[in-house]
Amino acid sequence: MLDDMLDYTEHIRSRPVWQPIPPEVRANFQEALPQHPADLSAVHATFMREVLPYAVGNAHPGFMGWVHGGGTPIGMLAEMLAAGLNANLGGRDQMPIEVERQVLQWVRELFQFPDTASGLFVTGTSMANLIAVWVARTRVLGTEVRKTGIAASNLRLSAYTSAGAHGCIAQAMDLAGIGIDALRLIPMNSSFEMDIATLRRAIAADRHAGYTPFFIAGTAGSVDVGAIDDLAALANVAEHEKIWFHIDGAYGALAMLSPELAPRLQGIERADSIAFDFHKWGQVPYDAGFVLVRDGELHHATFAAPAAYLKRDTHGMAAGSPWPCDFGPDLSRGFRALKTWFTIKVYGTEKLGETIANTCALAQYMKQRIEMLPQLEILAPVSLNIVCFRFRCADADTINAAIVVALQESGIAAPSLTTVNGQLAIRAAIVNHRTARENIDALLHETISLGETLTRVPK
Ligand SMILES: *Cc1c(COP(=O)(O)O)cnc(C)c1O
Repeated sequence: MLDDMLDYTEHIRSRPVWQPIPPEVRANFQEALPQHPADLSAVHATFMREVLPYAVGNAHPGFMGWVHGGGTPIGMLAEMLAAGLNANLGGRDQMPIEVERQVLQWVRELFQFPDTASGLFVTGTSMANLIAVWVARTRVLGTEVRKTGIAASNLRLSAYTSAGAHGCIAQAMDLAGIGIDALRLIPMNSSFEMDIATLRRAIAADRHAGYTPFFIAGTAGSVDVGAIDDLAALANVAEHEKIWFHIDGAYGALAMLSPELAPRLQGIERADSIAFDFHKWGQVPYDAGFVLVRDGELHHATFAAPAAYLKRDTHGMAAGSPWPCDFGPDLSRGFRALKTWFTIKVYGTEKLGETIANTCALAQYMKQRIEMLPQLEILAPVSLNIVCFRFRCADADTINAAIVVALQESGIAAPSLTTVNGQLAIRAAIVNHRTARENIDALLHETISLGETLTRVPK
């Protein structure tokens, strides 16, 4: 198994990025609950034949869809160690939790947060954003809200984020019981950053209408185009208005690892909370999201609960309180910290930062190439590692949507789609450390060739 996966990574460049799942392969996964044992080698062979070839391919250098990390063999081996230990990091006195605390300490250092800041590994930024909303809710409504619920308060809460923010911010409002309607989507300026003057006006209008503004979510690396909100300006607004300042830095926050990119995140060190993923730009295998909260006590007060079966002690296995389960909704938790710890230790932050900066340099290379190709046009500023472009033609939305599907089915490159200023865009997010100029060249070459074929055929 180990050999197979090392071979998979080593020879990934000779594979298609992605290929459609044959119907008979899909059908094989509708068998009845197995009663009798099967040979390990037979089950493994099924995996090799029917699962491995039909993954989404984000380890492949030609994968540029959505925002997916590439992973590394070191992360993979660390996962094996974690699975071997079968550690449960909900609590109790154990070194695996010290590993997680070590990573938390590094995260504090990276974002210049105080030692009293708390943090937690979670599935991903969707969960990390939700946890931040819960803690911010506790700050404005008090810990009493945990008993009485939001409805018992006569405050009408309102929150603010950019129109370009990820949909999971709205989902967090929904899941926290505050409701999506309480979230104001502030329009963006021409650089796709939240417009600060409009934000100020929206807060004032809400206060005037009797709302209690409680949460501002800035974005560091927007999902559509990779824009970074003016975090220092947002920090000023939040400080002046006494509103919780959260940052969705799902992939962008780790730009802090690159000395050349870090200055663009100025203001991040003033946030009340940051959500980000090690599984995107950090190249840690899925999943490894993280939430960092400046006020560790408030974070604890939002989740900690007495339970007889979780009683703490000063000695024995029940020592080491507070436990990770006191900082989030999960009790049983895997050892996500180990693959992250290995990745940071083995590669070091310098190398990880260079990798991040390199994906941005590749995006600039891609932009320059597109500007030199008359068949293509750029649709949004290239701020970080995301390039939105399209093939120029009549009925461009339909043709470009067809180009993206054909690109994915070609196995050569896999961008995804988005809409920029009402126009359908081919979106290439360069996240994988394996991606190189030749993959960019192949994507552009194939886009033009498919575009020309698709526009040549009469409809
Ligand atoms: C990926 C992403 C998310 C969601 O993170 P998950 O880890 O997929 O839950 C949120 N915000 C932004 C900006 C993202 O890029």
